Amino acid sequence: MAFEGLAERLQGTIQRIKGKGKVSEADVKEMMREVRFALIEADVNLKVVKEFVKKVSERAIGVDVMKSLTPGQQVIKIVKDELTELMGGEQSPIKFAQKPPTVIMMVGLQGAGKTTTTGKLALLLRKKYNRNPLLVAADIYRPAAVQQLQTIGKQLSLPVFSMGTDVSPVEIVRQALEKSKEDHNDVIIIDTAGRLHIDEVLMQELKDIRALKEPDEVFLVVDSMTGQDAVNVAQSFNEAIGITGVVLTKLDGDTRGGAALSIRSVAQKPIKFVGMGEKMDALEPFHPERMASRILG
Ligand code: GDP
Repeated sequence: MAFEGLAERLQGTIQRIKGKGKVSEADVKEMMREVRFALIEADVNLKVVKEFVKKVSERAIGVDVMKSLTPGQQVIKIVKDELTELMGGEQSPIKFAQKPPTVIMMVGLQGAGKTTTTGKLALLLRKKYNRNPLLVAADIYRPAAVQQLQTIGKQLSLPVFSMGTDVSPVEIVRQALEKSKEDHNDVIIIDTAGRLHIDEVLMQELKDIRALKEPDEVFLVVDSMTGQDAVNVAQSFNEAIGITGVVLTKLDGDTRGGAALSIRSVAQKPIKFVGMGEKMDALEPFHPERMASRILG
């Protein structure tokens, strides 16, 4: 399970400080040393770890006896609050267009789970938000991507707009926008091309698609198993094309947690959803506070 190592690593120090009726500066320092090691081991960005430890230490040293909590419990609460803050604080909702259709662009590197997530998101939008989405197959470079999206569409009984692999993605999206008007689709989800590496051609293509109609959301799909690479990818995509949020996939695996804990702070964009499995209903809104509780056990 995700975060298992981190949660386990933190349990000892949490238990030690929990019962304390008095927390000395030395206690806090010792705890923060262990928290620091645990976060580094979980592959959290070093700068993020440093800032986190500094913030928690400042708040935790000198905690006073509050009515309902022991000083030890207060320290744990501070750690939880700061972990929640680190992951974005509040859950970040989807931004819908005031005037439909809402345009959502899915971007990311190959294998991150972009096409799968496109289907999952469409299902969620239909089920939870009562929307009528159109999926657009604009990933013409990965041989099976168009077909994969069509299969997903069939499975979910959702319309997929595709023009094969010989038409440019910009043209595909242009025509998809027209089609959505005819069919009254209130959301359009564009599955754009993924590459093995970030390159100029990919970024230019995304910019060209963007220029057709300003998307309401640009979701970057990243694989949580890739740790700090996912964080770097998020930063690069954000700098190059501007993303509005991140979908972190494969959180059902045994990812150490570094990406989930670092992305918000490094790339300055919220994690909006997490992928919790290969099945189409395995997409969940990301709740920073719940995630922090899970980490702290
Ligand atoms: P793309 O190249 O980015 O479009 O990637 P795909 O959508 O084809 O996904 C790559 C692989 O990751 C597929 O085998 C998916 O089933 C799998 N995958 C995607 N999201 C998740 C997830 O949240 N959990 C798990 N376990 N597998 C996932």
